Amino acid sequence: MDMYVPRRSIRRDSDGLFFIALDGLEMASDFDSAYEARLEVDAACFAQAVGLELRSTQQEFTNKVLDLAMQVAHAFFRADEVRKSLAKGLDLLRQGPEDKRWFIDGQTIKVMPASGKSSKSYQVRETCTCKDVYIRAHLHGGMCKHMALRVLMILAQMGAGELNHLLDALDDAQQRVIASAEQEEEQDILALVVAALDAGDTARAEEIAANSGNDADGIREFIVMYQQCAVEAEAEAVTA
Ligand SMILES: [Zn+2]
Repeated sequence: MDMYVPRRSIRRDSDGLFFIALDGLEMASDFDSAYEARLEVDAACFAQAVGLELRSTQQEFTNKVLDLAMQVAHAFFRADEVRKSLAKGLDLLRQGPEDKRWFIDGQTIKVMPASGKSSKSYQVRETCTCKDVYIRAHLHGGMCKHMALRVLMILAQMGAGELNHLLDALDDAQQRVIASAEQEEEQDILALVVAALDAGDTARAEEIAANSGNDADGIREFIVMYQQCAVEAEAEAVTA
């Protein structure tokens, strides 16, 4: 498997809408918020770097492999809501096939509820047929726990060796974002700002804005908007 992770970037067009790019190549556009763009660019990056294919299996994984898979998943999916789904997906996965709590066959995941009354099955690939996806998509950033379980399985199937290579590739991709933002001027500065904000380092984000010349005001505006999106997403999660 090719262990190359494309560089993610989020930019704004002249109408103030956001678009996303991988290695500078535009992937999708017209996002109203940086938050939506972030969710999309993370998913696109995962699809391109790792793929979405899953072998039909009820394979069991060691805790070491599952921990690595989770670490890699966190490096791809950076929104809190998605990470909550990943944690739920990991819980399902840790219960193991021997408990018959979940089964997977190609694109179908069957999940047995804890009560053991009746199992439910969902078609899962880029999306899932469960009601979370239709009714509560905003709570999990577009990734329900079944989709998260599938992502973790795709990763876990790679095994520890390949997952470690993938972690290295993710680190390289992050370095390329930083180099790009600092050397190629503003084009990827937003990606760097987003990385700082996601790490809770508002001071760093503001420092980047202050050093970006003519774009400083636009980037400060972006910071405020990005934080607003994060607050709104949290508020929705709390009230639901
Ligand atoms: Zn689902």
